Amino acid sequence: MSRKKRNVVYSTDPAYKKRCPRCGSFPCRCPRPKSRPPSEQTARIRREKKGRGGKTVTVIMNLQLTAADRKALAKQLKQACGSGGAIKDDVIEIQGDNRDKVAAKLQQLGYKTKFVGG
Ligand SMILES: [Zn+2]
Repeated sequence: MSRKKRNVVYSTDPAYKKRCPRCGSFPCRCPRPKSRPPSEQTARIRREKKGRGGKTVTVIMNLQLTAADRKALAKQLKQACGSGGAIKDDVIEIQGDNRDKVAAKLQQLGYKTKFVGG
């Protein structure tokens, strides 16, 4: 073997960094995520202060749901709490400190719940 520098080709493909960590492809070729059954999920419930006014919201995280199912769940939680709410990426926010009501509703639907944060 010659001691000449080997002509190693490093990838300069800009897509390399964007490759999906799960399937290794870019664009991602993972199957569309499906909702996991409630009994297999633990919702993390956290109270947060949001925005300029420091409004309290109850944030529900860690649920693997399709967009449609998340929307439907957010609607049920809003009804259970009698509050407004919103979906931000993959978390659901319910206005006010409604952790107990949110947890009760989620448990009624079959989810496990865990309070996190303060
Ligand atoms: Zn993927």
